[in-house]
Amino acid sequence: MQHDIVIIGGGLVGAGLACALDGSGFNVALVEAVAADDGAQARPSFDERNLVLADASLNALTRLAVLAHLRQPPAPVQRIHVTRAGDFGAVRLNASDYGRERFGGVVVARDLGQALEAAVCALPALTRYCPAQVQALDYDEDHWRLRVQRDGSECTLSARLLVGADGSQSFVRSALGIGEDVTDYQQTLMVSAVATNRATDGQAFERFTDSGPLALLPRPDGLYGSVMGVAREQADAVAALSDAEYLALLQQRFGSRAGRFTRVGKRVAYPIRRVLAKQCVAPRALLIGNAAQTIHPVGAQGFNLGLRDALCLAELLTDGGDPGEAQRLALYRERRREDRERTLAFSDGLARITANPGFSMHLLRSLGFLALEHLPGLKAPLVSGAMGYRGWVPALARPA
Ligand SMILES: Cc1cc2nc3c(=O)[nH]c(=O)nc-3n(C[C@H](O)[C@H](O)[C@H](O)COP(=O)(O)OP(=O)(O)OC[C@H]3O[C@@H](n4cnc5c(N)ncnc54)[C@H](O)[C@@H]3O)c2cc1C
Repeated sequence: MQHDIVIIGGGLVGAGLACALDGSGFNVALVEAVAADDGAQARPSFDERNLVLADASLNALTRLAVLAHLRQPPAPVQRIHVTRAGDFGAVRLNASDYGRERFGGVVVARDLGQALEAAVCALPALTRYCPAQVQALDYDEDHWRLRVQRDGSECTLSARLLVGADGSQSFVRSALGIGEDVTDYQQTLMVSAVATNRATDGQAFERFTDSGPLALLPRPDGLYGSVMGVAREQADAVAALSDAEYLALLQQRFGSRAGRFTRVGKRVAYPIRRVLAKQCVAPRALLIGNAAQTIHPVGAQGFNLGLRDALCLAELLTDGGDPGEAQRLALYRERRREDRERTLAFSDGLARITANPGFSMHLLRSLGFLALEHLPGLKAPLVSGAMGYRGWVPALARPA
């Protein structure tokens, strides 16, 4: 089968790209290894993790009619309270101070995955290969040939533009011969839903400790999504705690800012590594989302950044012509550069600086917290960046 564009990977970012390409006039195909019939949960990131969708992502997912498929709308994040264990000072961020109703909204990844799946199924012109796994790629002058395993047999697809949206362990990245830089943060994040004796009210909490970040995010179901970072060597011991012991540890590390923890749901552990593709563009091919950059979840930027990759690409494909032409891909790289560099620096910097226990770092951080709290001019660029407005902003993501 011949296609203009083949997206490999129908996770959150690949599915987002398929939606954004609707109406482009190109013959688009989406190849995804895991069947939706197995339950959308079976896809690698359609799981229990809580995703903070930045304001820019909420704009885009609303315009793409994805959020309309959610069972419950995203829980708005209107205020954020940031502290560091052992440092003095706190940073309080209030969306209304920036003329906004919200910084973003929280969804459970499984729910967003199901909403994207429903949106993708409703796309009239999209060809879906699912479950189908791409197993080999060959370049042939003006197109790519893909060998795809499907229903126990093999088929061949061709594409004038190949998009690798196949996640951290990207097959496309390695088949294109693109190397990666890997940083292991030696940290594991424990993720679960928790209830406290106080109702959630649009406030998110972020607390940094020597062994990693803690976050409490207000969820659409009225619970908090909790994230607790632990040093890798302690992860097994923390995973083995009973629910009561786990809640006690959370309470001890978090304090009583959000009330008393009363219940914890299923706990999932994520070892955290950063994986950066050495380049994101190759002849008639590019990498987006986690295939291009898998970053530390602190700062809640990974999906938001990947979605902006997809939106930027879709916007560059609105004028017909050859989808894989080199100038178009060069323009894509240029338009993504600032957002990508600043978001990577923000996430990595936050992960490192807030985990460093040295005394001088304590002092610097405390001064930093005080400056941020009392010099509002410093907060504004930080806030607009975290809301998804860095560098060149795709039209679908811009505020109305
Ligand atoms: C604990 C945690 C919390 C997070 N919180 C946030 C947050 O608050 N905000 C945020 O923006 N981000 C967050 N992230 C990051 C976010 O989850 C990821 O950036 C996002 O899920 C990446 O989506 P993706 O589509 O690029 O990759 P994936 O979701 O990994 O999708 C890749 C898809 O490709 C398919 N595939 C792979 N190989 C092949 C092949 N050969 N053929 C066909 N299909 C293939 C897979 O089956 C899969 O469905 C968090 C991450 C973690 C771990």
